Amino acid sequence: MVKYPPTAAEVQRELQFYLQENKNLQPLLLFYKKLYARQRSFSKQPAVDIVPQALTEGLRKKEPLLSKVVLPIPLSETLKQAEAILTAAHKELLAGTEHQFDELLMLLQSTLTAQNLEDIFCQPGNLSLPMIQAYLRKNPAAAQLTEQHLAVMAQVIRAALQMYFVNFARQTAASFTFENWKEGICPVCGEKPMLAMLRAEDGSRVLECGLCHTQWDVQRIFCTSCGTTDQQHLSFFYIPEQTHRRVYVCHQCKGYLKTIVLKELAREIIPDLENLVTYYLDQLAAREGYGEAGKQAVLN
Ligand SMILES: [Zn+2]
Ligand SMILES: [Zn+2]
Repeated sequence: MVKYPPTAAEVQRELQFYLQENKNLQPLLLFYKKLYARQRSFSKQPAVDIVPQALTEGLRKKEPLLSKVVLPIPLSETLKQAEAILTAAHKELLAGTEHQFDELLMLLQSTLTAQNLEDIFCQPGNLSLPMIQAYLRKNPAAAQLTEQHLAVMAQVIRAALQMYFVNFARQTAASFTFENWKEGICPVCGEKPMLAMLRAEDGSRVLECGLCHTQWDVQRIFCTSCGTTDQQHLSFFYIPEQTHRRVYVCHQCKGYLKTIVLKELAREIIPDLENLVTYYLDQLAAREGYGEAGKQAVLN
């Protein structure tokens, strides 16, 4: 199941909620409001040829669908999307660096018109924010830009490419339910989950991918990073006044996963936004020694 991008009404409702919680989130939330609007207007790419039988076999061998299929991504269209997203990001997230917009634009254009780009950006494994950021850092056009600029630019590029993955995930949802997929990576694109949720109705643990936004169910006692099911290694913590926002940690591999207990909430959430506004839990987890450094680029 893929519920992305969120509707305008959902975004408006959540913005009001989060701004009451923390006014400092305004620039980030305004950027995402514009980003979602842009992504909603995304024109459909040509359907990808899916041969369910061959792919089902891959899934059985624990291979995500996109390890078998390469997405056709028209990079000229992506550049158009990315330029619009960059304009929003520059206004909302990089206030005070007005004079650097041209440099940012140049970096974006030279990145998305480079040769052999398909080999890099059509592979979901290369699209984590730290990886895009590292790729950008090698570009001479990035010489005058700060790490914050590059973090934002990585976000812009990922967001511009993302809808191809989301649309593919939506297309696959017609052929696959992923009922038997119990892995700690996305069955469609292979990314690690962005967020986990404990479903309100039955307490089941649902993971959501931050790239293609596929959701899939896994068992409760299970580390999504190393796969251990040994309860001794697993625990969670939370901030006392926010019992619904838990951080599940694994003492064995030092992995962690933020987990939202939906039963404790009187509203629906947009997982993507909930993940963003709980960045302080990522910082807390990092301070406690969990997670890979720089897993989430800090945007604010
Ligand atoms: Zn995915
Ligand atoms: Zn682990």
